[in-house]
Amino acid sequence: MKVMKFGGSSLATAAKFKQVVELIELRSEPVAAVFSAPQGITNALVELIELARQGSDLTPQLDDISQRLLTLCTDCAGWREGFDVSHSQQQTSGLLDQLRTLAQGCAMIGQCPEVTAAQILSVGEKFSTLLMAALLRSQHPVTVIDPKLFLTTEDDSGEPVADIVTSQQRFQSHYGDAEELAVMPGFYGRHPNGDLCLLGRNGSDYSAAVLAVCTGAERCEIWTDVDGIYSVDPRLVDGAQLITRMSYQEAMELSYFGAKVLHPKTITPLSRHQIICAIKNTTNPQHPGTLISATTDEGKAVKAISKLSDVAMINVAGPGMKGMVGMAARVFASMAESDISVILISQSSSEYSISLCVPGDEADRAVKHLQRSFRLELKNGMLEPVDCQENLAIITLIGDRMHQQKGTASRFFGALSHARVNIIAIAQDSSERSISAVVRAKRADDAVAVCHQQLFLKKPRIDAFLIGCGTVGKELIAQINRQQAWLKDNDIELNLVGIANSRQCLLDAKGIELSNWPEQLAACRQGLSLERLQGFVREAHLTNPVIIDCTSNQDIAMSYLNYLQASFHVVTANKKANTDTLTYYHQLQAMATKRQRRFLYETNVGAGLPVIDNLQSLLRAGDELLQFEGILSGSLSYIFGEIHQGLSLSAATAKARDLGYTEPNPAEDLNGLDVARKVLVIAREAGLPLELSDVDLQPVVPDELAAIEDGDEFMRRLPEHDSVFQQLIDQAESNHQKLRYVAIIKDQRCAVKIQSVGPDHPLYEIEAGENALAINTRYYQPKPFIIRGYGAGAEVTAAGLFGDLLRTLSWEQEH
Ligand code: ADP
Ligand code: ASP
Ligand code: MG
Repeated sequence: MKVMKFGGSSLATAAKFKQVVELIELRSEPVAAVFSAPQGITNALVELIELARQGSDLTPQLDDISQRLLTLCTDCAGWREGFDVSHSQQQTSGLLDQLRTLAQGCAMIGQCPEVTAAQILSVGEKFSTLLMAALLRSQHPVTVIDPKLFLTTEDDSGEPVADIVTSQQRFQSHYGDAEELAVMPGFYGRHPNGDLCLLGRNGSDYSAAVLAVCTGAERCEIWTDVDGIYSVDPRLVDGAQLITRMSYQEAMELSYFGAKVLHPKTITPLSRHQIICAIKNTTNPQHPGTLISATTDEGKAVKAISKLSDVAMINVAGPGMKGMVGMAARVFASMAESDISVILISQSSSEYSISLCVPGDEADRAVKHLQRSFRLELKNGMLEPVDCQENLAIITLIGDRMHQQKGTASRFFGALSHARVNIIAIAQDSSERSISAVVRAKRADDAVAVCHQQLFLKKPRIDAFLIGCGTVGKELIAQINRQQAWLKDNDIELNLVGIANSRQCLLDAKGIELSNWPEQLAACRQGLSLERLQGFVREAHLTNPVIIDCTSNQDIAMSYLNYLQASFHVVTANKKANTDTLTYYHQLQAMATKRQRRFLYETNVGAGLPVIDNLQSLLRAGDELLQFEGILSGSLSYIFGEIHQGLSLSAATAKARDLGYTEPNPAEDLNGLDVARKVLVIAREAGLPLELSDVDLQPVVPDELAAIEDGDEFMRRLPEHDSVFQQLIDQAESNHQKLRYVAIIKDQRCAVKIQSVGPDHPLYEIEAGENALAINTRYYQPKPFIIRGYGAGAEVTAAGLFGDLLRTLSWEQEH
C-alpha cells in the first residue's frame, strides 16, 4: 500500500485533475490518495471568513468560489466514460450551500467561532475529494475515507498534533479492510470532542503521513509542483540544487525551519514507523524526486538552507537570571501554559539573558504571559522589562553530516557578513544537524541567497554595472564578452547587469545579452541613478555589485562615496575622484574599509600597467617611496619621441592627433594636467598629504596656449611655440640628451615638467608612446624598480579595468 498526496498546486485546473487521475491509475499496488484544496481556494476561504468577521457583503466572494469549483467540474465533463458531471455538480452545489449558510451566519453575528472556521476552510479539500472520487469511480471501485471519523488530534495542544494510537484504532474500526483504491480529503481531522479540526496551513501533508501510518503503507508520496526538495526554495534563489536523498531528521529540520514543501509535522509519524517518503513532481512524474528515509547520502555536509519568516524574539534578562536554578524552566513553562511554541532558544553563557523566538503573531501574547509569570521579579528589578524584537526571520543550515565538518558555522556567518546581514542571535542544536541565525526579516531573502551562493554554488560572482560607453567602455564590454569561456572554465560568474551612458541605463539581472547591447541601450527610457541601482540590486538579490566607471565625469566621480556606502565595489579609470580634495580621497578609502568593499583604480596611472597594485604591495610590506620619476602620458611620450626624430612640436602634435593618440583638443594633453593628476594619485598612494594645487606643474606649452578650448584653434596657434621649443631640443641634443615630459616625486613634493635626460637616465630610452615609471624605494635602491609599457589606449585600459574587476573577488579571502 502507498499513500499519494496531491497538493493544491497539482489540482489547480481540470487538466491537472485529469493528470492526477492518470497518475493514480498507474499504480501497481493499493493506493490511498489524499487531496488538498484546488490552488487558491483555501486562501479564498480565509478571505471569506475575514469578510464575514467584518460583517461585509459575502456575495462576490461566495460567487467567485462557487464559480471556480463548478467550472472545475464542468471542465471535466466528457473526459471519461462513466463520469457523471451533473452528479458532481449537484454534490458541489450542496457543499457550496453549506458554505453559504455557515459564512452568512458568521457575517450576521460578525464572528466566526473556530469550529465554524474549520468547517468553512475544509470545503476546498472536500470538493477536491468528491470530484476525484467521481472521476475515479467511473472506472474503479473507490472508498471515500472521512478523516473526521478517525484522524484524531491531541487535546489542548496549541498546534494540532495527531494522536496516532487513537487514530489507528478508529481507522481500524471504520476502514479496517481498505479497498484497492481509497481517497481522502487532507487538512482536517477530528478533535477528541468530535468537532472537525484543522491541522494547520499546508496540513494535507500531515494528513497523508497519518493515513500512511494508519493504513500500514510502506511509502508516502507527496506530489507537488517541484521535482523534489532542493537545497533552498527554488522560487527564492536561482541555482537551487535538487537533493536526491535525505534523512528523516534532515527533512524534519528543514520543514520545521520553514521549507514550505513539507508541513513541519509530516515526518515525525513517518520516521517513527519507518515509512519511506518521496517528494515527486506531478508535472514531471518520471523524475525520481527526493527520497526521505532513515539514512542520508554521502553528499554534501550542508544539505539545505531554509528561511522561517515572521518570527519575534523575546529577551528575558536581568541580574535575577544569573545562577538562579529554575529560571529557564519558568520561562518555558510560561510559554507552554499559553500554548505558544518556542521555535529557537539562545542563552548567554553568563546566564544573564535567555532569548526565545516565537511566531510573530504570538509575540504580544508571549510577552504578556511572561510579564504575568515574572510579575514580582520585574517589580523588584531582578529582571529588566521584557524586550521583544519583531519582524525577524530565522535562517537555518541543515545537514546530518555537518557535525563531521569543521568550519561550517564560520562559512555560514562569513556569508552573512558578506551579505552585510547583521546576526541578532545564533543557535545550534547539539546534534549539529542545524545551525540557525536570527536576522531582520527584510534582509532574510538576501541572506538566504548569499548563503546559498557561498555554501552551495561556491562560484565566485561579479555583478557589474558599466558607466560610460566611449572607446574604453566599448572595449571592456567586448573583452567581457570574449572572456566568457575563460571565466566559465575558471568557475567565475561575471555578469554585466548594467550598462549606462549619460542619458540611458540598461539593466538585466540575468546578465545583458552582449551581442546587441547598443540597440538595447538605445531603447531604454530611464537613466542611471544610485537609487535605481540600489533597488535593482535589492530586488535581484545581487551579491557582489561592482560599479565600473569608464567616464572622466566629475559628477560620477563624486558619487563613489554613495556607491561604496551602498555596498557597491567601485572600479574606475576616472582620475577625478582620487584627485579631488584630500578629504574626499580619505573618505573614499575609509568608506571602502567600513563597507568591506573594494575601491580599485589601477587604470588611473599607466592604464593597464601594474602600478598601483605593485606600489600598494610594497607599502603593505613596510616599504617606503623615496623618489619617483616617470613618463605618465602616452600621447606626450609619442610627441616627444617624434620630436627627436626631427619633427617640430606642432608637426609631432598634428601627427599624434591624426593617429588618435591625443585628446580631440591636444591642449588637454600639452597642459600637463592629466599627468599632474596621475602623479598626485601615486603620491597620495605613498601617503603624501597633497592637493592637486600642490603639484608644481609646468605645461609643455605656455599657459596662454594651453588654455585654448578649441582643438583646431589650438593647432593653428601651436607653431607659435615651435621655435622656443626647438631651442630646448637643440640644447638637449648638443649635450647628447633627450627631452622628456616627466612627473617627479621628491622630498615630499610633486612636479611635472620638461626634463633633459642623458643616456644613463632610466627614461632616456623610452620612446614611441610608452609609459615608464622609475620607483625608488627603501627596498629598491640605488637602482629603481622600473615599470614600462604602453600606458594608453582602449585595449590596455580596458584590460586594466578587467583586472580590477576580477580583484573584487579576492574580497572573500581577505575578509
Ligand atoms: P503544494 O500545493 O503541492 O502543497 P506547496 O506550495 O505547499 O505545494 O509546496 C511546494 C513549494 O514549496 C514549492 O513550489 C517551493 O516554492 C516551496 N519550497 C520551499 N522550500 C523548498 C525546498 N527546499 N525545496 C523545494 N521546494 C521548496
Ligand atoms: N489547503 C490547505 C492550505 O492551503 C492545506 C494544504 O494545502 O495542505 O493550507
Ligand atoms: Mg503544501
